[in-house]
Amino acid sequence: MIDTYPYKPSIPANCPRCGGESRDTGELFFQGTHVLAEHSCGDCGLDFYATLPIGHAALYPVVCARDGSYARYNRQEGSWMALPLIRSLQKDAGVGAAIGLVQPNSGGDLILVNCLDSCFGHVFTKLWNVYLLKKQFPFKTLAVLLPARCRWLITDAEVEIWPVDLPLEEMGKGIRGLDAWVKEQFKRFGSVALSEVPVHPPLEGLDFEEILQARPFALEDFERQPLQLTFIWRSDRFWLNSRMLDFFHKASIKFGFQGRVQGLLCYRQVSLLGRLLRKLRKSLPEARFVLTGLGKEGRLPSGWKDERVEVIDEGVERTWNELYRHSQLVMGVHGSHMLIPTALAAGFVEILPRHKIPHLTEDIGRQHSGRLGAFLGRFVDEFSSSSLVAGHVVSMVKGFGRVYGELNMAVRREQKAVGVEMEALN
Ligand SMILES: [Zn+2]
Repeated sequence: MIDTYPYKPSIPANCPRCGGESRDTGELFFQGTHVLAEHSCGDCGLDFYATLPIGHAALYPVVCARDGSYARYNRQEGSWMALPLIRSLQKDAGVGAAIGLVQPNSGGDLILVNCLDSCFGHVFTKLWNVYLLKKQFPFKTLAVLLPARCRWLITDAEVEIWPVDLPLEEMGKGIRGLDAWVKEQFKRFGSVALSEVPVHPPLEGLDFEEILQARPFALEDFERQPLQLTFIWRSDRFWLNSRMLDFFHKASIKFGFQGRVQGLLCYRQVSLLGRLLRKLRKSLPEARFVLTGLGKEGRLPSGWKDERVEVIDEGVERTWNELYRHSQLVMGVHGSHMLIPTALAAGFVEILPRHKIPHLTEDIGRQHSGRLGAFLGRFVDEFSSSSLVAGHVVSMVKGFGRVYGELNMAVRREQKAVGVEMEALN
């Protein structure tokens, strides 16, 4: 936790121009996604900002001149986070937004959880901290800064909500007026501390039914419920199973011509979905196939029920959640769009790009324990064929009863043994 109000200057940083050591001046700046400490270099005189260790900035700290002219950051792993921040500090870069005050509290000691982010998955995992902190500090007041679109994910009537009304993709641009607005709110409280908002909080202790207001798939109904298999589509991340197309895709990102190859890559992904469905139909003729996700590119092969959209809002999220919680399995390429589907479905098959191997499981919402965890959570390589993906799906669907039954039998045996022991003791 970082004491913010009153704030005690304490965070050292190195000047982005001369590298001189500096301590902050005691002033904070609420940029949007990031909270920045103001510095003034004692050696060269440069005024600069240093990120507070909150959210992803705890992993990839950034120091940057206040006009964005000089910056130091982890270029290899942290550019995705640092570059939008640096751009947001440059002249005329910010965007204006309405900021709401929902369920205001009368005062007390405040913990602020900043969940502003341009990526929905990041917002979602940051929000878990609200639920964890509520349990950890039941007598403190909690407030959460979040994109207005995600307001529905806070169900606790005692948590103060500060929704920022901006499309997610604009959330990283720097929000004009946010700094003054936040500091005005602080005046209502005796003290304010900022949560460090760990981006990989522990899953244990989280109740997804409470957060999502949707009951996850009950495993005992796996074989009773109509079989539904759902693939989550993205128009910017693809299952291609082709080294040549993968090369084109990576080159298009590097040289900025994604728009020219997107149609081809979507066409390829659609065609793999067609093959996957034909293979699965042979072994699982009763299955219903659903496609959710963002972007409606590509003509879908028949058999898939198309639930994709061009724009996501709360209504869409809730409709999709109903689909996920009735899906025995969800499938898709690794990414934060898999968090909610994997939190609600019984199991998943995730297609994992090789550069994402270090991030395996980061986008998985629900984990079953023991052998069931390995059985119901499958990761396959990005160059997997439709046959291989289908092979996993069929084996999971057809083998579930045996694995689940064996585990249940073992649990019952154990319970019986404990019962006998208890009886003997009595
Ligand atoms: Zn300096």
